[in-house]
Amino acid sequence: MTKIFIDPGHGGTDPGAQANGLREKDLTLSIALKLRNILNNEYEGHSLLLSRTTDKTLQLGERTTMANNWGANYLVSIHINAGGGTGFESYIYNGSYAGKAETNRLRGLVHDAIVSETGFQNRGKKEANFHMLRESNMHSVLTENGFIDHSADASKLKSDAFLTSIARGHAKGLARALGLKQKSGSGTYYRVVTGSFVTRQNADIQVNALKAKGFESFIEIYQQSGTTYYRVITGSYQSRANAEQQVTRLKNAGFESFIVTYTP
Ligand SMILES: [Zn+2]
Repeated sequence: MTKIFIDPGHGGTDPGAQANGLREKDLTLSIALKLRNILNNEYEGHSLLLSRTTDKTLQLGERTTMANNWGANYLVSIHINAGGGTGFESYIYNGSYAGKAETNRLRGLVHDAIVSETGFQNRGKKEANFHMLRESNMHSVLTENGFIDHSADASKLKSDAFLTSIARGHAKGLARALGLKQKSGSGTYYRVVTGSFVTRQNADIQVNALKAKGFESFIEIYQQSGTTYYRVITGSYQSRANAEQQVTRLKNAGFESFIVTYTP
């Protein structure tokens, strides 16, 4: 069982960086809670401890003591940057210590997954003498997820869906780094939707257009607010990763699609 300690930066009387109507402490907590849910819903082989799950004041020493006493195998401290710049960067401890090469290798997997999932500008894999990295006894990484005082980054950070993609990037990276397995047979399917139509005729046209490019689809009748929709489903998968690969294949063939979860 891999123990992962998740630390949403700041909290309570310490708001962290503030700009554009955003507070770092709120964003880090939101990302951490989403990360917890994704890891628990979609992966297995781990246990999690969060330094905080509410807007609570915590000293840095309390956070690392919590992680050390719990015997965490990995620590991730989530932050939002400020001070001029844009994009994503991550940090490991800059000292010289046993296991640093491995700490850096694991960080690389987490870092790359976040950049790829968010599309953030990649500011690089960095080192610093931060408390959370220096005083924790396990492999650790600190992520700086966009600049709160950069208008384009801030407008992304105002989107709940974007915070989810930051969390999903962390989850994918942690899963790769720590060898977490995706849950299978949990009864949830990831369906790739390539269109939703109010007439079956239009749905059939889409099915045929997909077929012409080699994609098999089926139509699902879907009711929303009293309206019947004919949804074109081009693939149903037990793992989200496989559904995402299908989204990419469809995109390359000129079809926009999105994933919905389905529980029979
Ligand atoms: Zn911070």
